Amino acid sequence: MILVIMHKPPQWRIARENARLIGYRCKHCGFVEFPEPRKICKRCRKPSEFAELQMQPYGRVISFVVQHRLPEGFETPLPLAVIDLEGGARVYGQMTECKPDEMKIGMSVEAEYRIFYDDDGLHIYSYKFRPRRSESM
Ligand SMILES: [Zn+2]
Repeated sequence: MILVIMHKPPQWRIARENARLIGYRCKHCGFVEFPEPRKICKRCRKPSEFAELQMQPYGRVISFVVQHRLPEGFETPLPLAVIDLEGGARVYGQMTECKPDEMKIGMSVEAEYRIFYDDDGLHIYSYKFRPRRSESM
């Protein structure tokens, strides 16, 4: 007997989390995991229980790079940023509506659901970040 274990590719496994910016908050320490909860919390190291969390689409850039060479389907130069979201979670994402020389550490950004890239005519969607247009209340 041959046992075949099928795994969903990551982009499909986390499609819901990416589409709606859903994270998971550790019930012990409050740490927010994204996009998938772990069996052991990264911060408190306890076997954890996680509660689903609708994350805020707003955050600040803590680091970035500008990619000049990417596969076909990506526009270059493309800023890629590490962003701390309000309410927790550190995410990595493409920037849009922002020229590379406008990127700054600490800049305020907001997430939008967009076409992430085009795979031979198949549109792959995910969130991207752009400079924030309005401040939160
Ligand atoms: Zn924890």
